[in-house]
Amino acid sequence: MNARSLAQLPVTELKGVGAALQLKLEKLDIHTLQDLLFHLPLRYQNRTRIMPIGSLRPGDEGVIEGEVKGADIVMGRRRSMVCRLQDGTGTVTLRFFHFSAAQKNNLKAGTRIRCFGEVRTGASGLEMYHPEYRRVDDEVITPVEESLTPVYPTTEGLNQNRLRTLTDAALAQLQSGSLTELIPEHMRQRWQLPPLNDAVSYLHRPPVDADQDQLLDGRHPAQRRLAFEELLAHHLSLLKLRNRTREQGAPLMQPTGQYRDQFLAQLPFPLTGAQQRVSNEIAQDLSQPFPMLRLVQGDVGSGKTVVAALAALQAVEGGFQAAVMAPTEILAEQHFINFSNWLEPLGLKVAWLAGKLKGKKRQEQMQAIGDGSAQVVVGTHALFQDDVSFANLGLVVVDEQHRFGVHQRLALREKGRQDHRSPHQLIMTATPIPRTLTMSAYADLDCSIIDELPPGRTPVNTVVISDQRRADVVQRVRDACLQGRQVYWVCTLIEESEALQCQAAEVTAEELREALPELRIGLVHGRMKPAEKAEIMASYKAAELDLLVATTVIEVGVDVPNASVMIIENPERLGLAQLHQLRGRVGRGSVESFCLLMYHAPLSHQGRERLGVMRETTDGFRIAEKDLELRGPGEVLGTRQTGMMSFKVADLQRDADLLTRVKQVASEIAADPQLSDAIIQRWLGRDEQYASV
Ligand code: ADP
Ligand code: MG
Repeated sequence: MNARSLAQLPVTELKGVGAALQLKLEKLDIHTLQDLLFHLPLRYQNRTRIMPIGSLRPGDEGVIEGEVKGADIVMGRRRSMVCRLQDGTGTVTLRFFHFSAAQKNNLKAGTRIRCFGEVRTGASGLEMYHPEYRRVDDEVITPVEESLTPVYPTTEGLNQNRLRTLTDAALAQLQSGSLTELIPEHMRQRWQLPPLNDAVSYLHRPPVDADQDQLLDGRHPAQRRLAFEELLAHHLSLLKLRNRTREQGAPLMQPTGQYRDQFLAQLPFPLTGAQQRVSNEIAQDLSQPFPMLRLVQGDVGSGKTVVAALAALQAVEGGFQAAVMAPTEILAEQHFINFSNWLEPLGLKVAWLAGKLKGKKRQEQMQAIGDGSAQVVVGTHALFQDDVSFANLGLVVVDEQHRFGVHQRLALREKGRQDHRSPHQLIMTATPIPRTLTMSAYADLDCSIIDELPPGRTPVNTVVISDQRRADVVQRVRDACLQGRQVYWVCTLIEESEALQCQAAEVTAEELREALPELRIGLVHGRMKPAEKAEIMASYKAAELDLLVATTVIEVGVDVPNASVMIIENPERLGLAQLHQLRGRVGRGSVESFCLLMYHAPLSHQGRERLGVMRETTDGFRIAEKDLELRGPGEVLGTRQTGMMSFKVADLQRDADLLTRVKQVASEIAADPQLSDAIIQRWLGRDEQYASV
């Protein structure tokens, strides 16, 4: 049995594991002995010593031993059996709500028993409810446990004792050293990582003197050893993805300046330093013979669209088509308008494709995309449906990528692949991604940051205000509009249900129309037809509306420079990143802007802290870090990413300090594909996302 690695040994090889138990273990994602050994305890109990009863305090958990003084059934609020136990230092009551007659008979006065349980204050003073207990013999000294007792995460029908027996058996196998050490010795020495087998044994059966607080916090060196390897596995898998792409050829796009110069000359403003720098990085990538995979992070309003246009022009100069994809129709249309205005004067044709486009119009666009007469194509994900074929796609630009995960990135790359060539890929996000996440979830991408806003922007003033002052807020909106400002009023709901959210917005719009008859008020929400939405947005943009009531559909990318006031109802329900996005809709022009966060009182402690962050800073990176700290990576990245971000042992937040080391070790190990694969296989082998890579 030892000849094979524990990773290949199914749990059914252990004595007593039949089909039923196997099913239960599968629920815990335990298939092999290795899985069992990586199934780490949540916490530990100390059964290594017997506590004097006289020393017990409420909340203590431990072993006691003594003589039964009698057991009685009492009829309190609930019928129960109480049993008094004495050890010479004191007396404690054991209380059972479920018991049998046999149990009562066994607890005769004079019997010695040993119990394990938690002490609490009950009706008769100190009590233990339903302790584990067994008889002990006077003559024989019954040994206590030698190590701390693990408490494992478990599932229905699988008790702790069973898991302990199973891990005992697996640990016995481990003694023969068959859990392969995958991190080379010299690296372990350099980073002071204990050997894998030692770490695993320690965590399942820590010695009596182990630092329990450290273990509970997940900061013990043995835990960090495992977390390190797991993070390493994730990192290696992303590097592998990236190398796969790199192995493919890419269209070479030497810049000629043919369109670029003219485009820059007609822009009403010079590029910011940051736009210039990032554009140069992209230009470099595009003239390489392998596909670019670049993530551009730039706060809302930092001017990413111009940067995307420059990239597209380089593709066109190189004789290729560029596709620009946005996540919503509103945003895609806005890009289409921008790109058309910028590129048509250069004699270029911009095509448009979205889900709502049907029939003859769609045919025309498809024709232009297919025969190459459109050099640039803008649209939603409809761009990548099966029946769309590009004449010569060389660059894919994806805006607001924070909504997409690794899966989507892969799918896109696949889509554009022709022969052995992949298009270049540029991903733009307005949601700054905290460094820890860039180093983990986005390790397959190169990163550029536009860290400068165009000049002349005044930061948005953010005010946190209770909805008890709603009437005042409505008056402020009125005053602002009468002064020629335009205002957004954003409605949010806890429920994910879009229907309810839209309903709430409809009700609010009605109320505001009644309260403010002198204003021109519009409404947009996600359940309106795209054409309807576009029409309302267009008239708001043309200043034919003073006030726009909206759901969070306007979160992404909408650009109306004259809008300078935003009210957000119930901001405490949204993530900080989302609030930051919303707030980014104002402060786009040169007038001073306001954002009123109108919370529903009373505000929780965390709610206050979060809104405080919004008030204090408009720096998207700081907000993102804070969001990660307060909500965790799953929430920050969105559900689509959570598959990717589910770790067995590691915790991105807690183990963030390991990432620099992980990155370094990963780049060394990547040179050894066999080793790299073994590490990926160990931690992500069952994850289909990587299995198909
Ligand atoms: P985002 O990065 O949020 O996508 P946009 O590309 O929509 O930002 O740009 C926001 C606004 O800033 C637009 O109105 C755009 O024309 C303007 N803008 C972009 N770059 C500059 C610049 N260098 N100087 C002045 N204004 C700029
Ligand atoms: Mg944008």
